[in-house]
This record gives sequence, structure tokens and C-alpha cells, in this order.
Amino acid sequence: MSWSLWAGARITLTPANRRYAPLLMKIGVIGTGVIGLSSAVALRRHGNADVTVYFRDDLADTTSSRAGAVFTPFDAGEHAAWISGSLRTFRVLARTQRKSGVRIGTAHEYLASNDPIPAWTSIVGGVRPFTRAWCSDAAPAHGFDIDVPMMDMRVYLAWLRAHALELGVRFVQRDVRSFASVFQDGAEAIVNCAGLGARELCDDPFVRPMRGQLLHVANTRGHTDAIATLEPNGGITYIYPFPDYIVLGGTYELDQARCETDEASLSDILARCQRLMASHTGENADFLGASVLRRVAGLRPARVVNGCHEHVRLEIEISSRGPIVHNYGHGRAGVTLSWGCADAVVALLDEATNAGIAAQSARESEDGSPRRDLTPWPAPSVRG
Ligand SMILES: Cc1cc2nc3c(=O)[nH]c(=O)nc-3n(C[C@H](O)[C@H](O)[C@H](O)COP(=O)(O)OP(=O)(O)OC[C@H]3O[C@@H](n4cnc5c(N)ncnc54)[C@H](O)[C@@H]3O)c2cc1C
Repeated sequence: MSWSLWAGARITLTPANRRYAPLLMKIGVIGTGVIGLSSAVALRRHGNADVTVYFRDDLADTTSSRAGAVFTPFDAGEHAAWISGSLRTFRVLARTQRKSGVRIGTAHEYLASNDPIPAWTSIVGGVRPFTRAWCSDAAPAHGFDIDVPMMDMRVYLAWLRAHALELGVRFVQRDVRSFASVFQDGAEAIVNCAGLGARELCDDPFVRPMRGQLLHVANTRGHTDAIATLEPNGGITYIYPFPDYIVLGGTYELDQARCETDEASLSDILARCQRLMASHTGENADFLGASVLRRVAGLRPARVVNGCHEHVRLEIEISSRGPIVHNYGHGRAGVTLSWGCADAVVALLDEATNAGIAAQSARESEDGSPRRDLTPWPAPSVRG
């Protein structure tokens, strides 16, 4: 693999020059959503990077804080490596970090009559197809049960930020208007996790808001399993239970940029969820509407290319000031893809930096100055 680097040098990575470990870098991460926080944590875990996170909105105002959130991949092809990377880390968190708000739970997913079981289930494993009676239809419904990570975002995002602080990540609240301003602060590399903000920051017209609306209702009966169904119009109705509340969703409103709920949509969500719950359990589900805790709207950072809504931009740009890794456009699946994408950010910077050091080292040996042998960074990992 070869990279165009700072001085325009083109370096080929070989096993020999990979022994040079990355310099201690100053990295500016833009964004404190789930994508920015996961990237910052992964960078710190990988080695000695000095990480500062720049953010515009308070944590509670990010899209991430309003997500469902259950592990819901949409594209098993392009996203396969990120899905398995995320799955690995979420499983470790569920097993070892009780306060993280992450657990593994069972999801019951109903499909339209002729839809195949989605390909992403083979990455997760343990899929259990079913055919069940569906109260409101003559035909039995088919679908599958699967065990997936479930993230209580009211707990998880705060835990992630606290964990980043513990690891020495710094936070600076500032509206970043240009990458140059972050390089001027002393950053040697930037990781751009600005979500919807990338539309302006990168002048990227593919980034578009997709509003999602939810209801949080009291979990009075101790529900634990998620239930979801595809609607004939392509939408999804879902019920995601957490210890203190149940998420009822949802809507997928492309190009709707008003971050507000509307009563008609919320009533429709409640009716759909009551129907889904009643069909699944065979019992009356009016109780779902008895105690509404919160009405929630969030703007997903969709990146729409050829009909795909999660055409994530995850690539390295070598600017004249240093490398910029772009990591945005996760649409409906940002929580799901977060750790896999964070690992990819680390790998991209690691490779670019290794190549940079190899170039510098080659120049140093040509002019007779000493070569540097640096200790390799430990592999990215999550402390148990
Ligand atoms: C209702 C709803 C339900 C959802 N359910 C799920 C689910 O079940 N599973 C799932 O995987 N995903 C789900 N999602 C999608 C998921 O929430 C998003 O994909 C994810 O939150 C995107 O994360 P992000 O970090 O890219 O963006 P954000 O959370 O929006 O964070 C962007 C960050 O960038 C900062 N920023 C932007 N511009 C600038 C700037 N110029 N200067 C400084 N800082 C800037 C912001 O302040 C913010 O900190 C859901 C979304 C919604 C709305």
C-alpha cells in the first residue's frame, strides 16, 4: 500500500519500514458524538497520541444522545469489517463495563413476507429464524431472533466521555470553521467526526439531515427484548427497552432539518408500536402509551450516494498541513458502526505515520544523522 505524504513523497509500506512506530502525535478530533468519542478513545488506547476533542454542541444536543440505540447494521457488504469490529468491542463492554449502559439482549425482527434474512446477521451469528402467527394478518409473519448489543444512550454517551477524560483526552468547546484553525492550535493530524457539521466543514453536498422521532415511555413491566418490524413503506417500527424506559420509534425523514417532534408522527409511532407489541405478545398493549416520559427528535447525519443513506466517508486526506482522517456520514447506524470505524481511523493514521517516519528516517540516514528506533504502539484494545 502506498500513500502520498506531507512533502509529496510517495512511500511504499513494507514489513521492513513498518518496524518504525508512530511519533507521539498531537491529534485534534472534531465532534463529541459517538463517532468522535469512540475515535478519541481508540486513539488513546492505541498509544501515546495527545488527543484534544473540539465540539460545538453540548453532549445532550448531539444526535448521538438521541439515538435508540440497538445494534442495527444496514449494509453488510461495504460495512462488514466495521460491523465486526464494533461487535467485538461492544461485547467486551457488555461483559466487563457494567456502568457503560451496554448490554447484550435479544431482538425479535419481523420481515415482510418474501424478504430474506439480512446478510448482516451472519456477521453477528446465532440467528434463529421463526414463523409466527401475526394477530392482525391472516398470513403468519416470518423473521428472526438474534442477540445484539443494546446501548442505553442516556448512560453510554456520558460513560464514553468520562472514559475519554480518564484516558487523558482534553475537550475544547468551539465552533471549528476550518481545519487550518485546528492545525494552528498545534495539531499534527485531524480526525473529522463532525456528523452533519461536515456538510459545511468539507463542503460535502452528499451529507443530508434525516430526522428521527421517538417516544420514551416508562418500562413498567420490566421488558428486556427489542422488537422491530419492517413497514410496507420501507420504514421501521421498533420497541427498544432499557431499565428505566422504553424507546418507541421511529421515523426516517430525509431532508427534514427541523429538530422538533410533531404530534401526528408521535401518535402514529405509538399506534404502530402498540400494534407490534400486541402482535408479538398476543396481549393488549395500550399500556405503552400510559406514561410518556420524553418526546425526542434527532437529525441523523445521512450521506446519500446512489440510494445508500450510510455512504460513510472514512478516508485519509493528506493536506499540506498534515493528515486529516474523515469519519462521518453514518446515517441510521452511527452507534452500530462506531467502534469499527474508530479502529479504522487508528489504522489509517498509524499507516500514514509509519510511512511518514520511514520517509523521515530515510532522509536522516542519507544525510548521516542517526536513525530512530521507536517502540511500536500496543494494539487497540479495551480495558476489561
Ligand atoms: C431517533 C434516532 C434513532 C437512532 N437509532 C439508532 C440506533 O438504534 N442504532 C444506531 O446505530 N444508530 C442510531 N441512530 C443514528 C445515530 O444516532 C447516528 O448515526 C450517530 O449519532 C452519528 O454520530 P456522529 O458522532 O457522527 O454525529 P453527532 O452525534 O451529531 O455528533 C457530531 C459532533 O460534531 C460536532 N460538530 C459538528 N460541527 C462542528 C463544528 N463545525 N465545530 C465543532 N464541532 C462540530 C457536534 O457538536 C457534535 O459533537 C439514531 C438516530 C436518531 C436520530
